[in-house]
Parts: sequence; C-alpha cells; structure tokens
Amino acid sequence: MFRSRPATSPASRENQHHTSEETFVNTSVQPTAAPATERQWMDRAIDLATTSVAGGGGPFGALVLRGGELVGTGNNQVTTLLDPTAHAEVTAMRHACRELDTFSLDGCVLVTSCEPCPMCLSSALWARMDRILFSASRDDAAYGGFDDRKFYDLFETKPRAVWPMQVEQVDVPHRTRPFEAWLAKDDRIDY
Ligand SMILES: [Zn+2]
Repeated sequence: MFRSRPATSPASRENQHHTSEETFVNTSVQPTAAPATERQWMDRAIDLATTSVAGGGGPFGALVLRGGELVGTGNNQVTTLLDPTAHAEVTAMRHACRELDTFSLDGCVLVTSCEPCPMCLSSALWARMDRILFSASRDDAAYGGFDDRKFYDLFETKPRAVWPMQVEQVDVPHRTRPFEAWLAKDDRIDY
C-alpha cells in the first residue's frame, strides 16, 4: 500500500520530485493573477536565465504571457548568435509574435529575470506590451558586469556629447521622404 511506504524510500523521494515538477508545469496551464503565480513565472524566467549560462548565453531569461498562458520564452543569445540585440526579452517577444502571428503584444505581460535594458524596454513599448515584471535590478546587472545602468544613465542624465558612441543628425532636404511615402500609402498597416 502506498501509505505504508517509508517516507524516506527512494521511490517516495522520486515521487515527491516528480510531483514538484508537475506542480510547476501545471502553473502554465491554470495560472491566475495571484502574486504567488507571478512568483512562479518569475522562477521560470530565472531558471531560463541560469540555464542560459550553461548553454553559452548571457545570464538573462524572459517569457511572455497572454491571458495567463505562456506564448514565448527567450534567453540571452548575444554571443552565441553574434547578435547584440538577442537579449532575452527581445527573443521572447520575437517568439511570442511568431506564436501569435502578430506584431502587437497588446494584452501581454513580459516576465524577465532582470530589469529590461533601454533597448528591451523600448521594444516592449513598441510591442504595446501591457505590463513588465522583473526581478533583478539594473544595479544587480551592474554587479554582474553588465552595462544596463550605464546606458540608462546616458539617457537620463548625460548629454549626447559625452556618450561613448557618436549620435549625430545629418540634415538633408529629403529627410521626410520615407514618411511621406508611408502617409501616402492607402493600405498601410499602422503599428
Ligand atoms: Zn535588453
């Protein structure tokens, strides 16, 4: 009989292990808006980030939820893909858009292991993401040797003249030509 098994038997321990994993997976099936569920999704993002390191990626993981269901995951693949934009959040959003067959993540939540960098924050804005949940801060990222805080500081407090990369406007008379073509296109898809 099951109950007669010693609690410390290998079979029992194995069952407990499986039960634990199944409970974890079940959260993706029946999520709620409860903070406990948000913590479980965050645990998943942190797991992605940790696993990413072992796989040669950066220590960042993210996922996209819609209606409480997982629609995309991503980990940092900058060095593995030779792509400086392959941050976890951007990767998760790309996967979510492919999954949902849309360019808009309106109504979605981005759960990320670390505060989004300015690029990912902007990407989430462009995607019309409803909400972002993050765990580690830009200060934590700085501790890890990453420049998120430094880049935020550039945008928030430093004039462009002192940025490490030159950003200059080139004034040409036809600078608005692409927008004129866009506005003149009757069947454009606004985003
Ligand atoms: Zn980023």
